[in-house]
Amino acid sequence: MKNMSGMCSLTGFLGVLVLCPDASLAQAVPPADHPAVTVKGQTYTPRSILARNMGTETDRITAFPPHRIIGNIYYVGTNTLSSFLIVTPQGNILIDSTYERNVATIEKSVTQLGFKFSDIKILLGNHAHGDHQEGDALVKQMTGAQVMAMAEDVPALQAMKPGGKEHPIDKVLHDTEAVTLGGATLVAHLTPGHTPGCTTWTTTAQEGGKTYNVMFGCSLRPPAVLTPALVNEFNRAFKTVRALPCDVQLGDHGAQYNMQEKYAKVKDGGSNPFIDPASCTLEADVEEAMFHAILAEQQQAARP
Ligand SMILES: [Zn+2]
Repeated sequence: MKNMSGMCSLTGFLGVLVLCPDASLAQAVPPADHPAVTVKGQTYTPRSILARNMGTETDRITAFPPHRIIGNIYYVGTNTLSSFLIVTPQGNILIDSTYERNVATIEKSVTQLGFKFSDIKILLGNHAHGDHQEGDALVKQMTGAQVMAMAEDVPALQAMKPGGKEHPIDKVLHDTEAVTLGGATLVAHLTPGHTPGCTTWTTTAQEGGKTYNVMFGCSLRPPAVLTPALVNEFNRAFKTVRALPCDVQLGDHGAQYNMQEKYAKVKDGGSNPFIDPASCTLEADVEEAMFHAILAEQQQAARP
């Protein structure tokens, strides 16, 4: 069986990170099918959320049609693993290299949109799991981009060495630090829990003479076992995410913002379906409900 989530997502469900080196083994143990939570008429379990996020192995490595989301922001990822390109007059920013084996696919999508892969000057990340950042060293090799990472995710990134390559980190970022290039500003918000340095990025984009707030959400998916430290981290993350200005919500997996459904509407013309402030907190709603359900189950089990 192929590795489902790259690094430790599944072992995270078990709360046993020592099993992590062999992630393919971890996939043999799917996450629990309980608790179940229902949000806006849709029922979710840890297993269904992971399946929704990851899709099949083919989904993870097959390019989704590259497209403009809004303003200077483009999607260049696969069917289920997001990769975003922010285009500026002084070069471009890439968020998430995904798996190393996807880098050539991302390069092709960038080229298909009429941009040059070598114009990527800055590489950012969502969080230190292989399905989002394993390809960083290869992107750095191909483009010379500056790789920037949230301080709290640096240890996990340094342990990520595909083919023995050192994980490049040119700049360490801290909560609310801004990254700027060619008039674009992206702000890094620390939204920990899923990983210690899980980063929600915010920026603005212009369309039709208006300015819109864009949020690149980090994963808020809780593990099966919540330690007091994790509870604090997730509470902080949910609070932070809910306070961020948002007209366009994006995420590290397309399913978190109904990418495929919204993209289908783009083709019909009309207003931009990605501008959808009403659904900005949907992912936080789902994951926070799951977080509380897991916590309740855990407290119930601990009762004598
Ligand atoms: Zn992850």
